[in-house]
Amino acid sequence: MRYAREKLKWNGWGWQDQHFDFEGRDTSFWKFLQTELKLQSLSPTPACPLENLEVPASRLNPAQAQALAKILDPWQVKSDLRERVLHARGRSLPDLLDLRSGTLQDLPDAVVYPRNARQIQALLEFAHSEKLALVPFGGGSSVVGGVQASCRADQAGVLSLDLSLMQHLLEIDEVSLTMTAEAGIYGPELEEKLQARGYTVGHTPQSFEFSTLGGWIAARGAGDRSNRYGKVEDMLVAAKVLTPQGEWLLPALPASAAGPDLRQVLAGSEGILGVIAEATLKIHPLPPAQDARGFLFRNFLSGLEALRQLVQRGAPTAMLRLSDEAETQFLFRFRKKAGPDPLPQRLIKQYLASQGYTQHPALLLAGQEGEQTEVQNWARQTSKQLKAHGAFALGPKAAESWHKSRYSTPYLRDTLLDHGIAVETLETACEWRKLPALYQALKDTLQTQIDQGLKTSGSQGFVMTHISHCYPDGASLYFTFAFPLLPGQEREQYQAIKTAACETIVAQGATLSHHHGIGRDHAPWLQAEKGDLGMALLRQMRKTLDPEGILNPGKLLD
Ligand SMILES: Cc1cc2nc3c(=O)[nH]c(=O)nc-3n(C[C@H](O)[C@H](O)[C@H](O)COP(=O)(O)OP(=O)(O)OC[C@H]3O[C@@H](n4cnc5c(N)ncnc54)[C@H](O)[C@@H]3O)c2cc1C
Repeated sequence: MRYAREKLKWNGWGWQDQHFDFEGRDTSFWKFLQTELKLQSLSPTPACPLENLEVPASRLNPAQAQALAKILDPWQVKSDLRERVLHARGRSLPDLLDLRSGTLQDLPDAVVYPRNARQIQALLEFAHSEKLALVPFGGGSSVVGGVQASCRADQAGVLSLDLSLMQHLLEIDEVSLTMTAEAGIYGPELEEKLQARGYTVGHTPQSFEFSTLGGWIAARGAGDRSNRYGKVEDMLVAAKVLTPQGEWLLPALPASAAGPDLRQVLAGSEGILGVIAEATLKIHPLPPAQDARGFLFRNFLSGLEALRQLVQRGAPTAMLRLSDEAETQFLFRFRKKAGPDPLPQRLIKQYLASQGYTQHPALLLAGQEGEQTEVQNWARQTSKQLKAHGAFALGPKAAESWHKSRYSTPYLRDTLLDHGIAVETLETACEWRKLPALYQALKDTLQTQIDQGLKTSGSQGFVMTHISHCYPDGASLYFTFAFPLLPGQEREQYQAIKTAACETIVAQGATLSHHHGIGRDHAPWLQAEKGDLGMALLRQMRKTLDPEGILNPGKLLD
C-alpha cells in the first residue's frame, strides 16, 4: 500500500526516508537565518527516539478488543507504539514539539482501519456503548490540533479512526463532470486516476501529497489554484456521512432552493458531525496549457492594490501569490547559491535599482491554465495590467522555482527543529478595505510577541507573509514565522505568540482561518467570530447528530 503507515514519519513531515535537500545552498541558507534571527550558534536538538518515548499504556481492555474483533479483522486494529504515536497528533508546531519531546499524553488507545461505511457505523456504535471518543484521521496533516487524540474526562478512552483503507475512486461521471471517491483517498492517488481519464479536481494544497479527500472537506481547505477551481466547499457536490444517529446523505444537486445548503455545514465540520465515508466533487477537463510567471512590485502594498484591481476587473487567473518584502527576500536568498551573482543578474539588479525597485521589492507569482489561446491571452493581458500598476515582469523562472520546491519545503521544518529553530504558519482573510491594517497589525504582533519571548537571549524572530487566495471582496493573508526555541520554554513561547495573533485577528474583524480550520488551537476564539447564536446553532447541530459527543471532542467546539 502506497501510504502504509510504516513508510511515513511518525514525528515529522512526509516519507520516513526523505529529508530536506538544500541542493548546495546550505551555507547561504544557514548564514541568512543566523543573521535574521541574531543567533550566535545553532544548537543541535534531536528528537526523542520512538523507543525512548514515555506514553501511557492503552486503556483498551480484553473485552473491548474482543468486541472490536467482531467488527474488524485483527489486522485492522493496531495498538503498537508507533501506530499510537503517529495518530496522536497532526503537524502543527505544538504537535511536533509534543511528538519530539519524549513524553506524550493524549494518544489513541488503538487505531482502527475501517474498510467501508458499514464498519464505520459499527465502530460508532461500539464507541457509543463503550463511552469512547472517535477521532477521524485522514492524512493527519492538520495544523490546528484537529486530530489530537484527546477525550473528555467522562470518556473511557480514544480510538483514532484512520480512513486510509477507504481509498477507491468509485465513479467518474463524464456527463455531469463529477467524481465520487472514498474519503481516505490521498491527493496524488485521486489525481493520477482522474488525470489518466483526462480530468482534474484542481485541488492542490501544499499538503497535497499527504492529505485526503475527507480531510480537505472536513477542514474546508484551499489549494494554490483556488482562484480558478474554488475552495473545497465550492467543489463539493454530494457526500455520504456516518453519524452516531445513522447515515446522513447529502444528494448531488447542481443548485437548490430547498432550504439552506447542508453541504456547507459538512464542509468545515472537522469530524464533529460525522465521518465522511464518500464524497462527490466537481471535475474539470485537464487544461492543455499552463503558464506561470513572476512580477516585481516596488513594495507589498502597491502589489496588493494591483491585485485588488486585477481581481475586481474579473481577470481570470488560477493562482495569485504576492509575497511581502520579507518573504521576497527570503525566496530570493533561498534560491541563491553561495558566491557572487552572475553578471546578467547583477545588471538586472542595477536596472531595477535605477527604476526605484528598492533592495526589498515584493514578488508576485501569477499562474493560469486552460486552452492554449486562453493562456496566451491571459499572459499578455495580465502583464499589461500589472505593468500599468508598476510591476516589472520577471518571466517564468521565479514561478518555476517555487513550483518545483513547494512540496519539499515542509521537510525543512524538521531540519530546523533539529537545530532548535521553530517555524510555524497561520492564515486569515478579510475584506480588501481592512487588509493593509490587518497585515500591519498581525505582522507587528507576531514580531513583538516573538521578540519579547526572546529578550533574555538576544535573538529575534523572522516574520514573512503572502497573499494566497483572492476574491472580488477580499483576500487571505498567510504568515510564516521562525524563531529560536528556548529549551524548556518552547510551549510558553508558542502559546504567547498564538494567543496574541488570534486576539489581533479577532480585533481586526478578520477570520480565524481561511483554510486550516479551527481544531483545538483556534477553538477558544470561535465565539468571537460566530457570536452566541452562531455557537448555539453549531452546538445544536452536533447534539442532533452526535448527542453523546463521541466524535472528535475538543475540536471546533470545546
Ligand atoms: C506542510 C503543510 C502544508 C499545508 N498546506 C495546506 C494548504 O495549502 N491548503 C490547505 O487547505 N491546508 C493545508 N494544510 C493543512 C492540512 O493539510 C489540511 O487541513 C488538509 O485538508 C487536512 O487533510 P488530512 O487528510 O490530512 O486531514 P486530517 O489532518 O487527518 O484531519 C483534518 C480534520 O478533518 C477531520 N477529518 C479527516 N478526515 C475525515 C473524514 N473522512 N470525515 C470526517 N472528518 C474527517 C479530522 O478529524 C480533523 O478534524 C497544510 C498542512 C501542512 C502540514
